[in-house]
Amino acid sequence: MAPLIAIFSVLFGLAFGSFLNVCISRLPRHTSIVSPGSRCPACGTSISPRDNLPLLSWFLLGGRARCCNWKIPVRYPLIELATALLFVLCYLTFGLTLTTAGMALFCFLLLGLAAMDAEFLLLPDAFTLPGIILGILYTGIVDGVRAAAWSFVYALLAALLILLVRGGYWLVRRREGMGLGDAKLLAMIAAWLGPEQALLVFFLGIVSGAVFGLLAAAMMHICRSAYPDQVPIRHRALPFGSFLCAAALYAIFAGAQTLKWYLHFFH
Ligand SMILES: [Zn+2]
Repeated sequence: MAPLIAIFSVLFGLAFGSFLNVCISRLPRHTSIVSPGSRCPACGTSISPRDNLPLLSWFLLGGRARCCNWKIPVRYPLIELATALLFVLCYLTFGLTLTTAGMALFCFLLLGLAAMDAEFLLLPDAFTLPGIILGILYTGIVDGVRAAAWSFVYALLAALLILLVRGGYWLVRRREGMGLGDAKLLAMIAAWLGPEQALLVFFLGIVSGAVFGLLAAAMMHICRSAYPDQVPIRHRALPFGSFLCAAALYAIFAGAQTLKWYLHFFH
């Protein structure tokens, strides 16, 4: 039974990943995610079902669209693969439970937001706001009405934390560090995972973002002679939301152990 459910989770994940690609391509451009149906983003030709199989079609087509030979970004198969892996990981971690269904949905939202922030520097409300509500609902279904009310409070506090950091950054640097999208994103994460995990995610997001920024700056410095017309890294916006999403994905599966490890230093 278990291997069958695992295979089913993978197929389910591939289908959801395929839909997630449509969301990632269309939401930041404010186009509908339901109509028109699957179309080549380059030339607009509708895509036949056999060329629209998750993961498989990309390999069968050699990474190029049949209609106009458009080079399909590697993001498409990667998102489909990542969704499938996260879905099966949810099942293997939480079993055949309501938690698996909830966390798979949360993974879907996080993966989409991570990709949209990396590609467009945008965290669309169409994902974050329903994400906050779904997090509160999920908490209510799993832990009861009182927990749902607290989940709402934690979401507000998480947004406030980002707004405070944002305000502080503005006072010191006179430019925006974190956006309002980041505030809604951390609110969503707090609604789903609770205050301790949200703080862990915030901390991990900042550390990983800073390390990435420093490494990228060092790489740019080394490569400066090779690419003299590149924009210096400090003038580029870092998709902080992508790092928050990656940290939240980590927290879903290893956050509890990490917090336990961290807290044992204080006993
Ligand atoms: Zn085309």
